[in-house]
Amino acid sequence: MNATVRLAGIATVLAAAPAAAQVSTRWPIHSLDRPQPRVVGPAPAERPEAPPTDAIVLLDGSDLSAWAGDSGQAAPWKVENGYAEVLPGSGSIHTRRGFGDCQLHVEWAAPRTPQGEGQERGNSGVYLMNTYEVQVLDSYDNRTYPDGQAAAVYGQYPPLVNASRPPGEWQTYDIVFHRPHFSARGKVERPARLTVFHNGVLVQDDAVLSGPTAHQRRPPYSVHPDTLPLMLQNHGNPVRYRNIWIRPLDSTP
Ligand code: MG
Repeated sequence: MNATVRLAGIATVLAAAPAAAQVSTRWPIHSLDRPQPRVVGPAPAERPEAPPTDAIVLLDGSDLSAWAGDSGQAAPWKVENGYAEVLPGSGSIHTRRGFGDCQLHVEWAAPRTPQGEGQERGNSGVYLMNTYEVQVLDSYDNRTYPDGQAAAVYGQYPPLVNASRPPGEWQTYDIVFHRPHFSARGKVERPARLTVFHNGVLVQDDAVLSGPTAHQRRPPYSVHPDTLPLMLQNHGNPVRYRNIWIRPLDSTP
């Protein structure tokens, strides 16, 4: 098939089903042979921007009162100097309240002195609805499988480009998330969708999720409530977070 015919075919598919973007089957999950996303130099990090007036502030850097640990206890991570830091071995943390559709702003920084390689360097993660991970990783000059680098929808979509700042510098994610919708019989009526800006650069453009995040596999959706907590992953690396705020969207019940 020549390129023109192939492109015409793609255009037809897109026109017929605009929301039916699919996880690529051209590369196996976590393939290291997949081309690395092009590196884009983002603008320098600025001071944290004040949240808009209607945002729910989840982390202002002074405490973790909006968060809980894995078993519902007070969130066990370290808080100092205006940020929270993953405490290795203490488990992940999640918000005490649940969210569905939302606009989410997160600032994070990987450890300034890089340790480990690939997935072991500055790994954490922002899990929408405790289920769908936008990967946090030190992806500055750190090769790993593209569907697992910073700002990937883990195991599904590499970022469109690599807009990482160096380790130790603050980085931003601005995320627009639409939850999946299920019928009363548990059928997926609308899959979840994610748009992500990494340091102000578009890296996920209305990506249609194939299901929940897992390692080395892409499980199908399983029915869950319309709102669930936001989770920050403890992957054993002392990643820092600050200035996290969320705006639930009108479509959230
Ligand atoms: Mg992770």
